[in-house]
Amino acid sequence: MRFREMLIPTLRENPAEAEVVSHKLMLRAGFIRKLSSGIYSYLPLGLAVLRKIEHIVRQEMDAAGAQEVLLPMVQPADLWEESGRLKKYGPELLRFRDRHGRESCLGPTHEEVITDLVRNNVHSYRSLPLNLYQIQTKFRDEIRPRFGLMRGREFIMKDAYSFDSDDEAASASYEKMRYAYHRIFERCGLKFRAVEADSGTIGGSFSHEFMVLAATGEDTLVICPKCSYAANMEKATCMPPPALENPAFRTMEKVSTPGKRKVAAVTEFLGISASQLVKTMIFMVDGRPVAVLLRGDHEVQPVKLKNFLRADEVELASDQECFDAVGVPSGYIGPVGIELPLVADREVMSLSNFAIGANEKNYHFVNANHGRDFEIARVADLRVITENDRCPQCGAALQLTRGIEVGHIFKLGTAYSKALHAVFLNEEGRETPFVMGCYGIGVSRVAAAAIEQNHDKDGMIWPLPIAPVAVIILNLSPKDEEISRAAEEIYQALRCEGVDVLIDDRDERPGSKFKDADLLGIPLRLTIGKRFVKEGIVEIRQRQTSKTLDVPHDKAFAQLMNLLRP
Ligand code: ATP
Ligand code: MG
Repeated sequence: MRFREMLIPTLRENPAEAEVVSHKLMLRAGFIRKLSSGIYSYLPLGLAVLRKIEHIVRQEMDAAGAQEVLLPMVQPADLWEESGRLKKYGPELLRFRDRHGRESCLGPTHEEVITDLVRNNVHSYRSLPLNLYQIQTKFRDEIRPRFGLMRGREFIMKDAYSFDSDDEAASASYEKMRYAYHRIFERCGLKFRAVEADSGTIGGSFSHEFMVLAATGEDTLVICPKCSYAANMEKATCMPPPALENPAFRTMEKVSTPGKRKVAAVTEFLGISASQLVKTMIFMVDGRPVAVLLRGDHEVQPVKLKNFLRADEVELASDQECFDAVGVPSGYIGPVGIELPLVADREVMSLSNFAIGANEKNYHFVNANHGRDFEIARVADLRVITENDRCPQCGAALQLTRGIEVGHIFKLGTAYSKALHAVFLNEEGRETPFVMGCYGIGVSRVAAAAIEQNHDKDGMIWPLPIAPVAVIILNLSPKDEEISRAAEEIYQALRCEGVDVLIDDRDERPGSKFKDADLLGIPLRLTIGKRFVKEGIVEIRQRQTSKTLDVPHDKAFAQLMNLLRP
């Protein structure tokens, strides 16, 4: 590749429209251009990165026994009606009509299409297990497309779907994908963690998100620095609190707490710590009020609550809803005599002699105890985990860190196969729904996440396996025949070895060539200039470490090949 001939429209200035570093750098380095909101063109170098990622993804999916297909992007709305998602998916699903008035949509994901394909073509347990994947453009009419390739409306995804005869086989397929995903992100040269994710009503650890670690990530992860434990906020848990051993119960008393509604105000007034107060929060659960008890210094994690109550929607009640439900202003609500369904975070169970609202304006109880003053029937881990908590596996202090979700694997069970009546005949000749799994990788998001993780003030720093090219050769004096011949020699030698190499023999000042090479983040840079004429020396520089080596021209090729070896 010759810089001179290629479309690499680099920019000196940061584009105003870009907020995050990957978006800024991809625009500045001429990797992408915006067509409209959330929709981008990939220029040659941007496409080269995508191809590298796709190549790794294909190899690992094939190695795991998955088969590549390519499904249509335009999907009939009827199929979505059948699965029940036409309404449920909401405005992210772009719908339109063709000339015959048939309603269609652009595929945001392909569960419906693949299930339809399999129900029409696979009829026996003998054809199972089956895992089909594709790498394709998806369209989601995201409410807030932003951060360039990170959250586009049109983006490239690898999606795979597994079909198995029973739950055990489906778990085996899931584990294969989990392993393949580890290999993929490892091979891409990225620092990542697989975190347990919320798997909704399916339960168990059958959903993992693969997170590229980056300070700018949108997601918060809970990780253990000592062992392998990692989870996202919706799923994270911690070492359970110690059980309560024969506490000495003191007498419960009602105390006046005029105007003290907030935890901080009540506890300061009472001279106790927030962990000695149990707050009663009212949540609207599918439209009905439920009282949730938790320690004053803890927060409710709404997804945990939603899953525990098997609800579709949970939302913190407004002041008015609280008043309507209990007849007391929020801040004074408590569990004694309350007529609502009551659930408690498990840490409440290890408290004794704590403060609670008295269900009367301007009053609280102190020295309350569950079991004596009120009963708690339903208990679960319902709270947000913090850095004060300990790892549920090994007890080490947990850490919170930021990540970018680049992949998601999920055991689907029979939800789609039942809805679409996708069945096969089992060994006994009985019709059985397929047990499914789905597995996504945001290929274009991986490219952006790689930059978020690997960059400096001068530009991108590509990990070698997904770099658009491995080597850039800077010919600092294209008019000098001797220099040009030396540059050309190494350029051709590398190409013969199958190395992706870009030669910059543009008629530009050396300064701007150095700047562009740094901006593009090419792992290895070979510079040939005046020193070659004088001393026969050329310079090799590694982008990541800034390490430079002066080598005789005739050693440069071997040296580069050495550095490219894994
Ligand atoms: P998010 O929570 O980020 O919206 P999602 O849960 O909707 O993601 P999935 O449906 O699991 O994502 O899609 C699989 C993968 O596709 C994600 O892990 C992510 O890497 C990628 N992806 C999803 N939405 C987008 C988008 N708008 N732009 C780029 N990549 C995306
Ligand atoms: Mg989404």
